[in-house]
Amino acid sequence: MGHQEATLSELTDLYATIAACKKCALAQGRTNTVPGEGPEHAEIMFIGEAPGFHENRLGRPFVGAAGKFLEELLASIGMQRTQVYICNVVKCRPPENREPLPNEIELCRPYLDMQIALVKPRMIVTLGRYSMARFLPKASISRAHGTPTRVGDWIVLPMFHPAAALHQPRYREDIERDFLQIPRILAEAGQVAETQPGEQAQQLSLF
Ligand code: URA
Ligand code: SF4
Repeated sequence: MGHQEATLSELTDLYATIAACKKCALAQGRTNTVPGEGPEHAEIMFIGEAPGFHENRLGRPFVGAAGKFLEELLASIGMQRTQVYICNVVKCRPPENREPLPNEIELCRPYLDMQIALVKPRMIVTLGRYSMARFLPKASISRAHGTPTRVGDWIVLPMFHPAAALHQPRYREDIERDFLQIPRILAEAGQVAETQPGEQAQQLSLF
């Protein structure tokens, strides 16, 4: 069996583990777990917050209004969602779409960590505060959005959440502008990926 197949099966195993997970209270209200989806070695990983109504029903991330907007944003840089990996900080829908609680995020974190380790994206785009906090716990999103930052092995580009940006013109302009930077950052990320391993949240001067 080739390396690609082995990696794909590791992601598939992870999805099965998540489907059986009852580690936090969110397990009780879910219809489906929403592990995430995309190519096993996608260059870009988008990380949102939590599944909502439609995601819970279909078991897929970003399939409601925010997902449609995310697809439009991807189209603005000539990309389709099938080319990128999309997941969330927590894999089960919080009741009434409330924000995920710290203990839920903590208990679900190993799955996100495993996804990042398996997919090894060239860049990670965080959508909203909760996924940004996974990499940049002290950052403020209104200041940090749009600025690529190296965090350990990863290049992280924080953005506002598309659900918030969809209805608020100020955030919408920001996320549209931030998105247009992705192709350049991706190209440059390929060149610096091997040069600064293990460094903490350091702004990349070349950006
Ligand atoms: N919002 C999110 O954060 N994630 C989804 O999957 C859908 C909406
Ligand atoms: Fe498990 Fe995460 Fe779902 Fe909680 S949110 S039950 S930790 S998969």
